Amino acid sequence: MWYMNEEREMLRKMVAEFAENEVRPFVKEMEEKETFPMHLIKRAGELGILGLCFPEELGGVGVDWINLGIAMEEISKVSTCVGLLVMMTAVGSTLSLQFVGTEEQKEKILKPCIRGEQVLAMSLCEPVGSSNTAAYKTKAVLDGDEWVLNGGKIFCTLAGQCEYYGIMALTDEFNPLTMEGATMFLVHKDTPRFKVGHIEKKLAWHGSATGSIYLTDCRVPKTMILGEVNKGLHAFGSTVMQTYAYLAILSLGGAVGAYEEALRYTKERVHIGGKTLFENFQAVRHRLVNMYTEIEACRGLLYGCFEMMQQGKNGVKECMAAKIYAQQVHESVASQAVMLHGGNGLMVDNGIERYFRESKMMAVGGFAVDIIRDQISMLL
Ligand SMILES: Cc1cc2nc3c(=O)[nH]c(=O)nc-3n(C[C@H](O)[C@H](O)[C@H](O)COP(=O)(O)OP(=O)(O)OC[C@H]3O[C@@H](n4cnc5c(N)ncnc54)[C@H](O)[C@@H]3O)c2cc1C
Repeated sequence: MWYMNEEREMLRKMVAEFAENEVRPFVKEMEEKETFPMHLIKRAGELGILGLCFPEELGGVGVDWINLGIAMEEISKVSTCVGLLVMMTAVGSTLSLQFVGTEEQKEKILKPCIRGEQVLAMSLCEPVGSSNTAAYKTKAVLDGDEWVLNGGKIFCTLAGQCEYYGIMALTDEFNPLTMEGATMFLVHKDTPRFKVGHIEKKLAWHGSATGSIYLTDCRVPKTMILGEVNKGLHAFGSTVMQTYAYLAILSLGGAVGAYEEALRYTKERVHIGGKTLFENFQAVRHRLVNMYTEIEACRGLLYGCFEMMQQGKNGVKECMAAKIYAQQVHESVASQAVMLHGGNGLMVDNGIERYFRESKMMAVGGFAVDIIRDQISMLL
């Protein structure tokens, strides 16, 4: 791979060991019992994985977008659920605090997150539709030195697990052209009348709590606005390249994990004439080649995005496209991996069908790919 060197290979090995030795043994319990893997997030903090894209003064290890990609791919090969939770803490929810957060917010929220001691949710979605911001019911009104929030959120990842929640609320009439009118508030979990509601049962990612939030006259200090009043979507959008690219890497990792399982299985499964599936059937070998080709095409696009970040270039469109393409590759490869396992592929205990279920989560979680298509079309 063009982006690998000795130092990155060491990092890859270290994260692969973490994924194999600590994440993999926990996946079954996590998925069956819906256990939130806080201990793995803490461990990712101890290993420095959560600090791979933060400067040292914030407790990070220095910014290298490719390094973070390599780490996220290794974890997601084993579990895109743990990958998602680590990704949210390593970049998805936290990076906007580095870009537009105040010193107080960095001390109280960002630094503990980088150490793996806390997690941070970003809750926008409401029953009216995640992209229908103008119709959000959650509103905030200024009263002295505090904002008073009323409303509710759905599908909040990390619900019930956070010290602080990023909550998007309307503070003015929303203008879809300027994307102004909504503000991001950092709400502490112990704020009176802040309530976490029902935690959903889902198709996959059972270790990741997804739930509702209720806010009734919740008073939030003025100092706990992320970015500027009415510009919450700008604060959120300041990390749009990273958010989409590191969601995409979860899909790439998931696809690689499914492909490796299928390759191993077809080389081990003894079939007609005492030969393996791989030896016997050209159709099987060619299917694997197609899976490999899809993965490498995706890898090229995605690591190209990380390199653009590394060089400080604007690659918003490319990162969005990568999120869409990586999900397609994830679903295609995982579906073919199930096929290559035959009946065994459909048996839950074998764990291969999990890759397919997780690929469907990537089509909607972190903004539906159709919504992203719509966003890209405005940039064409
Ligand atoms: C597991 C999980 C975790 C999530 N975590 C979070 C979270 O932490 N924070 C958060 O804020 N949200 C979260 N979400 C919400 C997620 O971003 C939305 O579910 C997703 O963006 C789709 O929005 P919706 O559910 O409101 O569907 P709807 O808006 O009802 O859309 C349904 C479908 O209509 C189409 N559609 C809708 N709008 C558009 C558009 N603008 N352009 C083109 N097509 C469109 C798409 O096909 C879409 O899938 C999570 C969702 C899931 C499933």
